[in-house]
Amino acid sequence: MAIIVLSNREPYAPRTGPDGHVHWVASIGGLTTALDPVMQREGGTWIAWAETHPEIRTVHLPEAQPRYRVERITLSSDDVRLSYHGFSNGALWPMSHYFLERAQYRREEWDAYRRVNETFAQAALDCAEDGDMFWVHDYQLALVPGLIRRARPDARIGFFWHIPWPAQDVFRTLPWDRELLDGLLGADLIGMHTPAYTRHFLEACARTLGTETDVGTVRVGERTVQVEARPIGIDVATFEALAANPVTVDRAQRLRDNLRTLMLLCVDRLDYSKGIPERLAAFSSFLERHTAARGRVTLVQVAVPSRERAPAYQQLRTQVEGLVGRINGQFSQDGWTPVHYLYRGLDREELVAHYRAADAMLVTPLRDGLNLVAKEFAASSQDGVLLLSRFAGAADELPGAVEVNPYDVDGLSATLVRALRMPLEEKKARLDQMRQALRQSDLRAWTADFLRDLAGKAALPSELL
Ligand code: UDP
Repeated sequence: MAIIVLSNREPYAPRTGPDGHVHWVASIGGLTTALDPVMQREGGTWIAWAETHPEIRTVHLPEAQPRYRVERITLSSDDVRLSYHGFSNGALWPMSHYFLERAQYRREEWDAYRRVNETFAQAALDCAEDGDMFWVHDYQLALVPGLIRRARPDARIGFFWHIPWPAQDVFRTLPWDRELLDGLLGADLIGMHTPAYTRHFLEACARTLGTETDVGTVRVGERTVQVEARPIGIDVATFEALAANPVTVDRAQRLRDNLRTLMLLCVDRLDYSKGIPERLAAFSSFLERHTAARGRVTLVQVAVPSRERAPAYQQLRTQVEGLVGRINGQFSQDGWTPVHYLYRGLDREELVAHYRAADAMLVTPLRDGLNLVAKEFAASSQDGVLLLSRFAGAADELPGAVEVNPYDVDGLSATLVRALRMPLEEKKARLDQMRQALRQSDLRAWTADFLRDLAGKAALPSELL
């Protein structure tokens, strides 16, 4: 029995080095971090889109010591435009994050999405043997479970939906709501990040399809589909160790020495769901009201480039950079610049040094499936405060964070004052509380539990579930 993972993004991306040879570099992000160790241990096949170097169809990875196979899917540039940039990122992403005014539903894009899902499903079927388990990931591949199920009625199929599942009144704006649900219900086990997302999903099944649902289950003909909240964890020990490493401690100290002020840290992909303009407005209002904070507090914004070809993301970048310029133009004084803005991603060592250096971390998305950055900060910081949006999935698991409403600009500014004045004992107690919660749902457990339950469930007759 082998594991077949399907995701849009590949676990390692090819890069042509100065020597002219292609090297495989691990992709940044939760999925690779979560699944690469299991795949390395268990072997199997990972099916993903070949964004570059489409001529390489199959590769055995990791490069230094190959342990599993990656089958790379090539897509036409039209299908990438229509399915990935179009339906996935222009319809499903904004709809699921409650940005209906940004969601565009186009039949041509939906057709391409179906085609791409068929290509992925076929690639998985082509390499599967009896007893293999399929684990499909995320909103780009929602139809794959149904397509595999049709060809292999007794297959074991798991699905993880990594973004929010919105309330039914939002979901039902999707013209292909039935088809999307039918696709997902091809799975035996569907995981989501929070109980609210699973409730919304079950409600969608009941209302849109009229299926019989119970607590955490949907009845589909003779099958029972399990739907569960299983928030993805982080590798707590690795973050703790990295944060305590003398090299990191030294880097963090240098960051602080360079700033010579208190440090507010913000780390986000440059995405409209992350609430960056609202947060900058709150910081501006904070500086406006608390004149004593000027020269004493600096906001460091790490903005990781994302979907740079999409006009909505280009506009967001212009907006954010305009706001940064305005705040710096208005408040800079005596060698102090209120906002330090980085338009690039940091590697993990640099990122953890930032987590360690920060007095407060501001994670204020308008909507976020989970938010790993919040968890990583909680695992890395020694004495910082986490301000966390009530609209991030991770808020359910991090009661030690200070909850904020990102839409409430004045409230956010007031909470900032509270965070900066928080006694050290309280900060440490809150971090302890969060670390305990994080240790209980570690990344390894997340992956192992999902695969174990997937393997077990399909072996049982549905009436026993
Ligand atoms: N990340 C990184 N370098 C950066 C910023 C982010 O490696 O400069 C990583 C971060 O460690 C986290 C992931 O990117 O694991 C971001 O995940 P999150 O859930 O916070 O947001 P997403 O980008 O998936 O919406």
